[in-house]
Amino acid sequence: MSLLKSKIHIKNIPLYQGGESKLDQFSSITKLSSNENPFGPSPNAIKAYNDVQSKLHLYPDGSASELKEAISDIYQVSKERIICGAGSDEILCLACRAYSGPNDEVIHTQHAFSMYSIYAKSVGALPIISQEKNLTANIESILKSVSQKTKIVFLANPNNPTGTVLNKNDVLYLRESLREDILLVLDGAYSEYMLEDDHDGALSLASTFKNVLITRTFSKIYGLAALRVGWGYADISIIETLEKIRNPFNLNSSAIAAAREAVKDVVYTKYLQDHNSQVMNEFILKFRSLGLEITGEAGNFILVKFPHGLNKSAAEADSYLRSFGIIVRRVDGYGLINFLRITVGTQKQMNEVFLRLKQFLEGNNVKDPI
Ligand SMILES: *Cc1c(COP(=O)(O)O)cnc(C)c1O
Repeated sequence: MSLLKSKIHIKNIPLYQGGESKLDQFSSITKLSSNENPFGPSPNAIKAYNDVQSKLHLYPDGSASELKEAISDIYQVSKERIICGAGSDEILCLACRAYSGPNDEVIHTQHAFSMYSIYAKSVGALPIISQEKNLTANIESILKSVSQKTKIVFLANPNNPTGTVLNKNDVLYLRESLREDILLVLDGAYSEYMLEDDHDGALSLASTFKNVLITRTFSKIYGLAALRVGWGYADISIIETLEKIRNPFNLNSSAIAAAREAVKDVVYTKYLQDHNSQVMNEFILKFRSLGLEITGEAGNFILVKFPHGLNKSAAEADSYLRSFGIIVRRVDGYGLINFLRITVGTQKQMNEVFLRLKQFLEGNNVKDPI
């Protein structure tokens, strides 16, 4: 037996379960389990990535200056208030390390991204769950969860996996109602999919308040999940704090170059936004026509519920889809037992899922071609 003991608060942390990407019997699959962009990144991003080949012996720019400039330009935010990270995951982790520790409390909503509680636990803090109402973050419940020990409140808006959103006024009300010494982290992984004028992904909130941190990612609409790039936006005092404790070369040169070009290609981003909203609206209607229930309508994924009346479970549907090489996301781990989360893919992929689900729900469980 080893005498080496890890910190007690690390011992019981569950391992993060990502979306699966392989099925043994299939050489190619339809993967709609990780909210990835089905078209990949801008061609300019791929070119910039390839161009890094000749510079592999050089350390990256530790300040990711060119990437910050591009973000600052496109999002109209000040460069000094941006921090870049290896995925927005790193920013979430830095926030926990900088602003919480042993015996502190960190609040997140009931069906929230599992990394919030994993990072809170990793620094010895206690995650506190605030109950949702109708699968939507409930501000009164968040405020009721606050104690003297609360240091951080995490809120994903839109939320994954529920697909529900709080509007700008609600988020403002939440910030104004929280004590000033509590950091509000607004995870905007899906902000780019919000086309409404009044959703600026809370960037203006982080410009006004000294205790708001926005996180964004290049893993979703920008199609660069493999390269691990994210960013945070906040008051300069928060950014300076997080900068001190990050790894000095947290982003590699290929990631910086590809992300820089991806964010600049606004025409391609607009195409992806329009495609997502059109396909998503179409298939929300189609899934509902099968008797499936859908609450949230934001992001690039659809959370479908298999109501009792259908007499078919999400687990059975999942096995059925898998038998055709289609992987969607089981969300039991989030406490969503009879639900599946389906990433909005291409029209063709979505048709395939829809027709298989239809076949499954109508009980024609023969392996008919579709
Ligand atoms: C996908 C996702 C992220 C992105 O994480 P990265 O580390 O940037 O890939 C963050 N938050 C939520 C809620 C997500 O769904």
